[in-house]
Amino acid sequence: MKPVLLSGGTLLDPSQNLNEVGDLLLADGEIAARGGAIEGPDDADVIDCDGLIVSPGFIDVHCHLREPGREDVETIATGARAAAAGGFTAVCAMPNTDPVTDNQASVGFIVRQAQRAAAARVYPIGAISVGQEGKVLAEFGEMVGAGAVAVSDDGKPVASAQLDDGKPVASAQLMRTALEYARTFKIPVIDHCEEPTLSDGGSMNEGIVSAQLGLKGIPAEAEEIMVIRDILLARLSGGHVHLAHVSTKGSVELIRWGKERGINVTAEACPHHLSLTEESVRDYDTNAKMNPPLRTAKDVEALREAVKDGTIDLIATDHAPHHYDEKEREFADAPNGIVGLETALAVAVTNLVEEGYLTFSDLVDRMACSPARLFKLPGGSLKRGAAADVTVFDPKARWKVDPSRFLSKGRNSPYNGMILVGRTACTIVAGSVVYRSGIPVRSREGEQMNRARG
Ligand SMILES: [Zn+2]
Repeated sequence: MKPVLLSGGTLLDPSQNLNEVGDLLLADGEIAARGGAIEGPDDADVIDCDGLIVSPGFIDVHCHLREPGREDVETIATGARAAAAGGFTAVCAMPNTDPVTDNQASVGFIVRQAQRAAAARVYPIGAISVGQEGKVLAEFGEMVGAGAVAVSDDGKPVASAQLDDGKPVASAQLMRTALEYARTFKIPVIDHCEEPTLSDGGSMNEGIVSAQLGLKGIPAEAEEIMVIRDILLARLSGGHVHLAHVSTKGSVELIRWGKERGINVTAEACPHHLSLTEESVRDYDTNAKMNPPLRTAKDVEALREAVKDGTIDLIATDHAPHHYDEKEREFADAPNGIVGLETALAVAVTNLVEEGYLTFSDLVDRMACSPARLFKLPGGSLKRGAAADVTVFDPKARWKVDPSRFLSKGRNSPYNGMILVGRTACTIVAGSVVYRSGIPVRSREGEQMNRARG
């Protein structure tokens, strides 16, 4: 593999307090050198990053890649390529596949498919319970040994989706045991916070809009009851609970309460919950249907403030591709979820940076450094010797979202047709360029030959 020299970009790495224009040299899968102007080896490929931000690669700790079981909707390879196009050098795949990722062999399968895809890295997340049935704990040790980086109850098991009986861990006792067990393997338990009896039958946020539309709502309390339960169980067990896709102001207040007391709770918010409200549901657009649902403007504001002050630790996509026909159903019957890998950066830049909530440095922290640190993953840093997982993006590029151009098989995006700011220019994993959007690569040898001739 040839060394890669990223030339003249703004090097941004909050984990190193780095924010300066310079060069970055990648060699042998590692960050080899950093500085004002690196001479570098003669055989290096040179990428001109003038006007672009060069940051540690983004890491998405929450996505659904649908393989095995629903390869018609997404595969590990298409998901990993979509991730790379979105600037993600690594993603964590949720376990609600068919069969469920709940044992050593199924975790190993994902690891092998990801290696074959040779795009973004894919880390499997194992199920908390066997078959995601919420009854018997899965073998965490075996799954971790095979490459799982966390356990979660997120997402409906595919096989039972029609029966609508997939549910988060409803039993507090099972969650307590999961947190104790996960602690011995030093991995987080990622919880999808939803009290199933309160959310039952709901298809959007409960409030004035749901009443006007005649749709059954899901109250904020369905999430918040589980948020406080999990925080208390983290205190009791000493385990690390990571709260998936936090969507309400009340949840933010509870997480703040837990963190102030030193409880081991971390949390993520999704780009859609940071940018859209329940108003998007008004025309019964099923691309605005997700779980938890889009909430109110007050919730969006509280989430933005929480990402800013660190109460919410990181941004994760909850990328959830669905088949076009399935999303074409009546609103109440359509499946939950939207694709997000290829719009996450731009939605975050447009709604958080341009709106003054985050600096680009903060954004890189929430999308790269914080996920690496909390999930103990490689990357998240531009320091010498770190994995050469790097994202280069244009902070000012304006573009119109066209889902037909996504590398994901999914097209279900509420951002269809919107103009957003911020776009991936180049994604590099272990020193190899896995995605490039128009940005040229020059060979230094050719350059020198030209100069000699000149
Ligand atoms: Zn999810």
